[in-house]
Amino acid sequence: MSEHLIFEKTRQGRCAVSLPDVDIREEEIKKFIPVSFLRKKILGLPEVTEPALVRHFTKLSQKNMSVDTNFYPLGSCTMKYNPKVNEALTNLPDFCGLHPYQPSSMIQGILHILYDTCRMLEEISGMDKVSLQPAAGAHGELASMLMLRAYFEEKGEIRDKVLIPDSAHGTNPASSSLAGFKAVKIKSNKEGEIDLDHLHHIMDEKVSCIMLTLPNTLGFFEKKILDITEIIHAKGGLVYLDGANLNALMGITRPGDFGVDIMHFNLHKTFATPHGGGGPGSGPVGVKKFLEPYLPVPLVEKKEDGYCLDCQRPKSIGKVRSFYGNLRVVLKAYCYLRILGKEGIKKVSEDAIISANYIRKKLQDHYPSPYKRICMHECVLSAKDKKEKGIRALDIAKRLLDFGIHPPTMYFPLIVEEALMIEPTETESKETLDAFISALLQIAKEIEEDPTLVKEAPHTTCVLRINEVEANRFPKVRG
Ligand SMILES: *Cc1c(COP(=O)(O)O)cnc(C)c1O
Repeated sequence: MSEHLIFEKTRQGRCAVSLPDVDIREEEIKKFIPVSFLRKKILGLPEVTEPALVRHFTKLSQKNMSVDTNFYPLGSCTMKYNPKVNEALTNLPDFCGLHPYQPSSMIQGILHILYDTCRMLEEISGMDKVSLQPAAGAHGELASMLMLRAYFEEKGEIRDKVLIPDSAHGTNPASSSLAGFKAVKIKSNKEGEIDLDHLHHIMDEKVSCIMLTLPNTLGFFEKKILDITEIIHAKGGLVYLDGANLNALMGITRPGDFGVDIMHFNLHKTFATPHGGGGPGSGPVGVKKFLEPYLPVPLVEKKEDGYCLDCQRPKSIGKVRSFYGNLRVVLKAYCYLRILGKEGIKKVSEDAIISANYIRKKLQDHYPSPYKRICMHECVLSAKDKKEKGIRALDIAKRLLDFGIHPPTMYFPLIVEEALMIEPTETESKETLDAFISALLQIAKEIEEDPTLVKEAPHTTCVLRINEVEANRFPKVRG
């Protein structure tokens, strides 16, 4: 199973490509490039044949789990299968060949697409205006917090706190602190929802906003959402929605209709861009009318003589990303939305919810979570009762690898002990869900009968159980 480094396969003189001879003499190069920048020694690149090159990288790619190879129920991340047609469309030369410095008159087509994508996101979310600039969800959070700061500064109000539920994603307190706010934790109640009494108690005129995730990271819709938004608004605060879980809401309900003032989208999660390797992503922000002036620039506008990029917005927080944001992620979202249409989008959310509840129902007695209720697009189970057999959520996650399944999210949300957070998404068949359920049932049985099997898993992967701290501090990259 082990694969040597490509440098170790080097044999002098072998080459995977045939390049034309250089037709510029060395003395001439020196005329164009300062000598100090020229390489003194030839770079020690690997010398291998084309088949060796292709086999090397194909083998490496097969050591990884991906949505294209395995079920990937990583909670909160929405690892849905990404239809290849979106890749094909965004790879068209008309898109790839665009240059960001082309004048607007030459790029009316792409501006039209960006404009329409904003309008579709507004329609789905019920917000009044969207900017496509931020490059990821966390970046959208930060941009939004900067907008809120600018808004309250202009109003002359000093509001330095942001309320964040204890079930929230770690980026929420991080973004608010980066923007200069103090994060204040709100408790959850027994139902896994925001504790309204606690919210009443801590809400005051120093709070700029609440950062809500809906459905929350336990997969539950806040049934009291209208009360929550009212409590915040009554004291002059605003409601921010972390839109990472939009895959549960689309076509069913709209944040703008239940009191959200500002939110971000994770196009790479909800709207089908392959992710998980660290990018590129896209985290557009949407706002209600009164926050429009603060949106990051440029915004795509439609004027009588065509589409244009509007940067003349004096109150804007400015640019947060070069050019138009991560254009090709936006393009994929556009294709995905156009292909699915209004009805398709709603079906995505409905199917995601049904899949999560199917899994929850079949597994909740074997991995009991403190909350036994219908969930939305993801469910949180717990391995707490496995501790007496010496087994933790991590061991179960490792054992799942032997079944060819990517582990779910673990130890998040923080308020569930030994959490296993499962988000199957709408793209998996019933057979795949059943295979996952039967793997987890089998693991539960193994924990009873032969816990070492689970404790020492995985047994079939190219890298077995590693010491995670050591692997992190002293990575061993040699095969
Ligand atoms: C993924 C996620 C984020 C952060 O989004 P990125 O695009 O990864 O920066 C924030 N909140 C929740 C709930 C998430 O799942």
